[in-house]
Amino acid sequence: MDYQSQNIEEIVKKVLAGMIGDAAADSASSVPAAKVSTGKNNGGIPDKAHVAILVEPEKFVVKEFPMPAVGDDDILVRVEGCGVCGTDAHEFKRDPFGLIPVALGHEGTGEIVKMGKNVQKDSAGKSLAVGDKVVTCMIFKDNPDITMFDLNKQNVGGADVYGLLPDDDIHLNGWFADYILVRGGSTIFNVSDLDLDSRILIEPCAVLIHAVERAKTTGILRFNSRVVVQGCGPIGLICIAVLRTMGIENIVAVDGNAQRLAFAKEMGAGASVNFKDTNGIEDLTNHVKDAFGGYFADFAFQCTGSPAAHSNIYKFIRNGGGLCELGFFINGGDATINPHFDICAKEITTVGSWVYTLRDYATTFDFLKRSQAIGLPMKKLITHKFPLNEINKALEVNLKQEGLKIAIVN
Ligand SMILES: [Zn+2]
Repeated sequence: MDYQSQNIEEIVKKVLAGMIGDAAADSASSVPAAKVSTGKNNGGIPDKAHVAILVEPEKFVVKEFPMPAVGDDDILVRVEGCGVCGTDAHEFKRDPFGLIPVALGHEGTGEIVKMGKNVQKDSAGKSLAVGDKVVTCMIFKDNPDITMFDLNKQNVGGADVYGLLPDDDIHLNGWFADYILVRGGSTIFNVSDLDLDSRILIEPCAVLIHAVERAKTTGILRFNSRVVVQGCGPIGLICIAVLRTMGIENIVAVDGNAQRLAFAKEMGAGASVNFKDTNGIEDLTNHVKDAFGGYFADFAFQCTGSPAAHSNIYKFIRNGGGLCELGFFINGGDATINPHFDICAKEITTVGSWVYTLRDYATTFDFLKRSQAIGLPMKKLITHKFPLNEINKALEVNLKQEGLKIAIVN
């Protein structure tokens, strides 16, 4: 019996080693940095890892580190890809979080290549094994209001996250790398049933799942509500997609970029309004109303970081309507509103939305499957893919706002 199971383990190891070896060979052509790997040890895992370290503003250097030991509660993951977030772009540009030297990248996904003996299940209770595809959420030490997945009383707030940690002796702390060491106490999800592009989109999609959950608490957002989505960057576009999967199809997209508005319609907005084609807030409001066939919106999602856009959006909403503000991930300054006209007289219900809960993370996996099933062009959100050694270029493209979601793919 023992002999047999050992044998099977050997075979599995060999097969896995072959698979990992092939994958490494495939990616070596696009990621020259990975070629530096030489010796291999346990099950095809190289003895060196490569991590893009931001060493000064606007400068990543792909550094080589020894592959760390995997502790009893740790998981070693071979990185397949990672989205570039606005947060990465801010840190790249000016180091506002004071983290340099830092391994960035928090929208990552990859395959488990080794796990400690105590690791059995993911944060939702699903089993974990070598070969499974995973994403991490946040790292929690001792906040039961967040870590109790079934109750999940609180969003993840300012918890630690891989890709925004101070550098340490292990160095494998961010997803802009070829390997990452997920340490005990981190949340991790088995997402083997999602393809790579979907997995790269999980984190930004979770932001919208949460925003829509917040919107639903108002009781105003219903099946077939009239909804304005203002701002058609990745966040606004994903917002439209989430609404579509909920049976809301009466959506008007507002933005100043014709190309993004065209994509919003492809994603399922029934109509779009380019504010650059309008003359002042009254004219813009009339355009929005016309787009709904002469009605104001029941509900609005504010997905830009512009205070002026926040001021404007109240005008689009009907009496008794609702608003979800989720655009301000960073402080964009104060917005002017008229409490008499905008809030009291209209009896508008407003909610704010900030990141997500762990439950939203799990809901996101189902959203991604459903969006695919109803044919939404989610994958077109990833407009650029760069290998790890071109990470500086990837961040520059992101800063120029040339595409939508930029991804590093190994
Ligand atoms: Zn992010």
